[in-house]
Amino acid sequence: MTTLLKEEEIRKEIENLRKDLNYHNHQYYVLSDPKIEDFQFDQMLKRLELLEKEYPQFADENSPTKRVGGDITKKFNTVAHKVRMMSLDNTYTLEELDDFHERVTKDIGQVEYVCELKIDGVAISITYEKGRLKQAVTRGDGVQGDEVTTNIKTIRSIPLQLVNDYPEQLTIRGEIFMPKTVFNKINEEIKAELEEKGLDEEEIFEQQLKNPRNATSGTIKQQDSKAVAARNLNAFLYNVMAENSAITNHYDAVMKAKSWGFKVSEHIKKCGSLDEVKEYIHHWEKKRFDLDFETDGIVIKVNGYDQQNTLGSTAKSPRWAIAFKYPPESATTILQEITFQVGRTGSITPVANLKPVQLAGTTVKRASLHNADIIAELGLRIGDMVFVEKGGEIIPKITGIDLSKRDPHSKEFHYITHCPECNTELVRKEGEANHYCPNEDGCKPQILGKLVHFISRKAMNIDSLGEKTIELFVEKGLVKNVADFYILKYDDIIQLEGFKEKSTQNILEGIQKSKEIPFPRLLFGLGIRYVGETVAKKLASAFKNIDAIIQSTAEELSAVDEIGGKIAESVVAHFKKDSNVHLIDRLKSYGLQFEASVDSHITTSTKLAGLIFVYSGTFSKVSRDELEELIVNNGGKKSGSVSKKTSYLVAGDKMGPEKRKKAEELGVKIITEDEFLALIN
Ligand code: NAD
Repeated sequence: MTTLLKEEEIRKEIENLRKDLNYHNHQYYVLSDPKIEDFQFDQMLKRLELLEKEYPQFADENSPTKRVGGDITKKFNTVAHKVRMMSLDNTYTLEELDDFHERVTKDIGQVEYVCELKIDGVAISITYEKGRLKQAVTRGDGVQGDEVTTNIKTIRSIPLQLVNDYPEQLTIRGEIFMPKTVFNKINEEIKAELEEKGLDEEEIFEQQLKNPRNATSGTIKQQDSKAVAARNLNAFLYNVMAENSAITNHYDAVMKAKSWGFKVSEHIKKCGSLDEVKEYIHHWEKKRFDLDFETDGIVIKVNGYDQQNTLGSTAKSPRWAIAFKYPPESATTILQEITFQVGRTGSITPVANLKPVQLAGTTVKRASLHNADIIAELGLRIGDMVFVEKGGEIIPKITGIDLSKRDPHSKEFHYITHCPECNTELVRKEGEANHYCPNEDGCKPQILGKLVHFISRKAMNIDSLGEKTIELFVEKGLVKNVADFYILKYDDIIQLEGFKEKSTQNILEGIQKSKEIPFPRLLFGLGIRYVGETVAKKLASAFKNIDAIIQSTAEELSAVDEIGGKIAESVVAHFKKDSNVHLIDRLKSYGLQFEASVDSHITTSTKLAGLIFVYSGTFSKVSRDELEELIVNNGGKKSGSVSKKTSYLVAGDKMGPEKRKKAEELGVKIITEDEFLALIN
């Protein structure tokens, strides 16, 4: 190849890398929606750095290697930083750390380092004037960032007023993060809410927070500071910039910051030698998983300010610090099989079955593949040696294939075209990622899923029936759809293995009693896609009976408050099917409640007039929505937070400790669910 041709190729590669890196920076910083793993991003950046070094003729000061990845969204005021906010050079190897140490000691001789955990969150710069919090700005492009003061003020560990001998003017920088426990709790809440709405596992997964870092950056950029407060973010501060101060090194500065009221990491450590630094790195490699926040490495900083100044910085990062990043927890193992799960609504989820392997402290046997596109993008084949990672995400995922180990005889993987359970041809609607099995009435997991949903506590609440019994009923051909429950006879059940007189009676009584269940819960129990508990209530109260719902058009349905087009279309499609209408006719003939009763348990009165209620936790007799309805319908008001004006705090199971504390401090009366119900009955 001629030199010219080679140069042209290099130029193209550089151009492509810059384009890709800019795209990923935007996804990561601005949209909080990264498309690749950090490790992959860092490898691409390293490759670009190398090429730019070897081919200086292609240098560009706007290259992603020269600039801090920006997060300016234009949704907030843009504010310039007095002192630029830098990034950090990073390395994944101890050899490069040796090189760093060599460079440092060559320039400044004897050195003392400070090691800190590298918190995986979002950088923030906060200024204080005369001890009062004045302004908080994100890193942005390092020169200027988004002003998010109101949001930052909701973070309890960031003091609004400093104490002790704080300096007149202070800028302090640090990392905002979402604790892992908070992250998991929010995801559980999202799951519970969406399950109630009838969404399946895959749809729920898509709406859950992806990892704590993304969740933090997404939260900080919200316009509604109340929503930020609800997310319980936290912060560690580590970089003190005080004017005219006598502080001479980083470690002392952090200790001072602590005395002024800032939350600083207790794991900061002075290290007199490189060996001590390596010990620190080694110590935290596994232990970091026990912390309640995500860390992606260790930051090693030269302690003395004079020495820092001597070393200076590049356009992007200080020369006196380096981040040692732990390689992502990954493992290689064999993809043994891809199986497919069919959800209650017919959605198909592919699952990778792996040869069991140890990863980040747990044995991994399965990884989610989500949909056909993911499998195609990876180019997976059965028998492939695959890389599995846990990254910041909870469910392990396959990130790539070791092609050097691929069996040359292996065959391309073709996504299934027919349902693994009932062999019906699958459909995939335009714009949707998942395939569906349309055989609602003949596909076993769908039949079973619908029956189990129908008897569940929030729907028909037939607790004498369970999943195992229903499975048996289906197997014996006794039940095919929810209407069949109501024609079950004593003799049908008693003849089955394991059923005695008492249990048979209980089942029949439970089914009989369910005929009294009010219309909204019955509607929810039908398991119409996207018709969750709340939607069912809205539809029932707007249309009053099932016939009106069956006859309504998508426009009429979506005219109801909070009923969107997707829900409306799903309802129309459901009742377009004759079999679904026939099912309703049968249920009607057995005496189920298809009319909203006037005297449903949500009564109206003025018994709570003038009273303000706050509730917290979960309740056993009413849902949170019902509780709110009860408060409002009886003349009371509901508030989200406890204040002096609050009349009662209704305490449910797992109530927020902060609310309880506040109520106790203010002398607000705390009552139980039963005590609340007694107020209106
Ligand atoms: P960085 O996150 O590697 O390091 C700099 C940052 O570390 C600082 O800004 C600070 O916020 C933070 N930090 C945490 N604890 C610290 C401590 N104790 N002391 C000092 N700083 C501390 O660099 P970066 O420039 O912010 O971002 C690059 C990172 O973002 C890389 O990890 C990269 O992989 C990732 N990234 C990923 C994608 C993607 O698509 N996956 C895209 C862009 C960037």
